[in-house]
Amino acid sequence: MARIAILGLGLIGGSLGLALKQSRLRDVELVGYSRSRETREKARRAAAIDTIAPDAASAVRDAAIVVIATPILTIRRMMEEIAPALPQECIVTDVGSTKAEVMRWANDILPQHVSFVGGHPMAGKEQMGIDAAEAGLFEGKTYCIVPSPTAREQAVNSVVGLAELVKAVPVYMDAEEHDSYVAAVSHLPLVVSTALFSLARDSLAWPEMSRLASSGFRDVTRLASGSPDMSCDICRTNRENLVHWLNRMAQELLKYRDLIQGGDDEDLLKTFARVQVERDTFIAKGAQRREERAAAEPSISISDLLVGDWAARRAREMTKALEEQRGRAKKGNGDHGRRR
Ligand code: NAD
Repeated sequence: MARIAILGLGLIGGSLGLALKQSRLRDVELVGYSRSRETREKARRAAAIDTIAPDAASAVRDAAIVVIATPILTIRRMMEEIAPALPQECIVTDVGSTKAEVMRWANDILPQHVSFVGGHPMAGKEQMGIDAAEAGLFEGKTYCIVPSPTAREQAVNSVVGLAELVKAVPVYMDAEEHDSYVAAVSHLPLVVSTALFSLARDSLAWPEMSRLASSGFRDVTRLASGSPDMSCDICRTNRENLVHWLNRMAQELLKYRDLIQGGDDEDLLKTFARVQVERDTFIAKGAQRREERAAAEPSISISDLLVGDWAARRAREMTKALEEQRGRAKKGNGDHGRRR
């Protein structure tokens, strides 16, 4: 029976385990390791893994695929711990929220006989830990696939297959591109959410004001309840991109301030109306994509996953779609550099 090892059994690692167990993947043993004994036991009781390993190195021995799902700054230490124990031709992937640093660590630390394929499921919530894990977390969500230059094609296809099995939508990307995009759509919202909460909370009027804060305030500040360690890791490993988008955000807020202050109410209404239509379209497209994914559920064995045509065919389809998408984007904005 082939082994998949998951290192770090919190929200993402636990959810991956649950989703793989509920997928149609057959003939595979999920081996898990996490720092705390309590988490390891909980993960096994929840059936997110089959077997607990006593340490990270034992978990990866004999593994065909290793998924590192620890906090970002711990990924480096994990790589150092497992490097001597990784079997020949093993496939190593991660789920870290930033990619450029992780790709550098993989290049520096992992042995040449393994293939590293970075990953980032664009799925999550503000709760953390194994208790928050759920099998449906990745359903219909984009799963960024960031192959290292030395990764074997088959290894890339296997990680694509893994993402498909948990019902996510794999998308190829390079690390720099990934980090600049997520800075805008994931990391900036985290900082804005936190800043809005602290702005209101630090006001002298907070005791009265807080009684009026209802669902809107709750929705927009939800991300401020996320793990402080994770937020800090994200800022530390994507500093430059995040600062760029924070500056853009500050300019955008000033634009809205001027619009409101300027008194051109027709222009103001047009702005709100345009953004409403654009956001509603974006939300509707996401729902449609989830329905399409639910209709196409794959059923494969571990050998299909590791060597079969299935993942290769999917990967070819995805690459073609992405190339077409990139072609359209380039035509649209004439921008051949980083999308900022
Ligand atoms: P989490 O806190 O829920 O889980 C992390 C797990 O790693 C915990 O079980 C912890 O015990 C374990 N761990 C920590 N240090 C360890 C060590 N030295 N050895 C072994 N295990 C260790 O966090 P999470 O939300 O699952 O995040 C995990 C990774 O996924 C991070 O790299 C994060 O950037 C990424 N990610 C998170 C989200 C999200 O929304 N939470 C989304 C996508 C990707």
